[in-house]
Amino acid sequence: MTYLQLPIPVRKTIALIAHDNKKNELLEWVTINKEKLEKHRLCATGTTGTMLERELSLSVDKFKSGPLGGDQQIGSKIVDGEIHALIFFWDPLEPQPHEPDVKALLRLTVVWNIPVATNRSSADFLISSPLMSTGYPRLVPDYHAIKQRLDNS
Ligand code: PGA
Repeated sequence: MTYLQLPIPVRKTIALIAHDNKKNELLEWVTINKEKLEKHRLCATGTTGTMLERELSLSVDKFKSGPLGGDQQIGSKIVDGEIHALIFFWDPLEPQPHEPDVKALLRLTVVWNIPVATNRSSADFLISSPLMSTGYPRLVPDYHAIKQRLDNS
């Protein structure tokens, strides 16, 4: 397998999303980690972002609300290399109207090999990693070469 190197910069763009039943928990987590998060650029789905701006006076680039396409917008930025990490406080107990979008978003984090945390402990591990304050030589499979090989087989 050949890989391309798509470096993750020192100052990262971090996407934050919380399902409704998880918004308070995310707010608590962001409050605790505000100083570390402020070293990076933050973006979020609409309602999550509005909450973080209002409650914590953070500067957050906001997309549409998740059920209206915000998760898909974040996915598209991951594909474009403009989002470098995802913190997603995901609700495992309630069905979501935009379940397919959530699945698609999580799939893209794997395709593009970005760090992703889907619960509070993994978010703690992610935010306290020394790699949060350095660049990181992210490797992504050379999908173009893989496709060519499949087409020729
Ligand atoms: P919201 O979207 O921040 O607009 O509530 C989150 C989600 O449910 O994906």
